[in-house]
Amino acid sequence: MLVVLKKSVTESEIDHIRERVEALGFRAHLSRGEVRTVIGLVGDHRGLAKEALLSLQGVEEVHAVTKPYKQVSREWREADTIVEISGGIRFGGPEVPIIAGPCAVESDEQIFGIADQLRAMGASLLRGGAFKPRTSPYSWQGLGEEGLKMLARAREATGLAIVTEALDPDGVDLVAEYADVLQIGARNMQNYPLLRRAGKCGKPVLLKRGMSATINELLLAAEYLLAEGNDDVILCERGVRSFDNHTRNLLDLTAVPVVKALSHLPIIADPSHGTGVRDKVIPMARASVAAGADGLMVEVHPNPPSALSDGAQSLYPEQFSDLMEQIRVIATAIGRSVKGPA
Ligand code: PEP
Ligand code: MN
Repeated sequence: MLVVLKKSVTESEIDHIRERVEALGFRAHLSRGEVRTVIGLVGDHRGLAKEALLSLQGVEEVHAVTKPYKQVSREWREADTIVEISGGIRFGGPEVPIIAGPCAVESDEQIFGIADQLRAMGASLLRGGAFKPRTSPYSWQGLGEEGLKMLARAREATGLAIVTEALDPDGVDLVAEYADVLQIGARNMQNYPLLRRAGKCGKPVLLKRGMSATINELLLAAEYLLAEGNDDVILCERGVRSFDNHTRNLLDLTAVPVVKALSHLPIIADPSHGTGVRDKVIPMARASVAAGADGLMVEVHPNPPSALSDGAQSLYPEQFSDLMEQIRVIATAIGRSVKGPA
């Protein structure tokens, strides 16, 4: 339920409305837009009569949010949400930050070397999995906490913010200790206990679309994070299953404008998992920026043939450098800019 306030509403009227909302058993979520100020009611609305709120001073109208997701919807919040990461990196504004790095952290040498290069080429955030969700239980599963420590050391050396994945609810707090952005992977998009825990972790969350998830399911998964009080959510289109096997997944770039119309949350694209094929990554990265993605996630490895995971889709550093030059031009053409390191 949304309580839309009158233009003339005073601060003391707002305080009073919030008190009433809380007395009715809801959390009051105030959002001040350029056009209107609204108070969203978080909680179970069954049995709530609009009249209880309509009669309060300063209230213009009260209406239900029509979408199944509530706080994630544009009805709830008109303005784009800007998710700010340490170091002044902002997702959802005119700048387009680039997250780059290997699929997995493999050693200090690997992650330091590549982080340094990526920073020089203009990436703003360093990615690398320490806990890897592998399709086969016999595949290498990542370095665990040792990998998180390597990422933290690479951040110290380069200043790049860290994006890394948590695989299960019990792992969230550990990953959040090290990460600037906690990633939830495609395979876990509907892991509700994990989402709830991530919603309380105190760090921005990058939520990847499940490989067979509809856009509504993605937005409802994001709703779990906001429902726990975490508004700093970045969505990520990373490709869905298709009937064609020329690529690993079908990067669904229509999700970018569709999500932007339905939600105020930023959405980035991952053309690496979205294609799974190195020479398809650059064209689809260009297309992602052109489609209006609020950032990119790109896998880059110092020596892809030796990568312990996802080597076939990892760019060589020189390719990443070329890509950065190209997307700077595309971003400029649509009134945006590729944000360099903080
Ligand atoms: C990843 O980013 O390393 C990853 C495993 O991605 P996804 O969850 O999209 O498969
Ligand atoms: Mn990967």
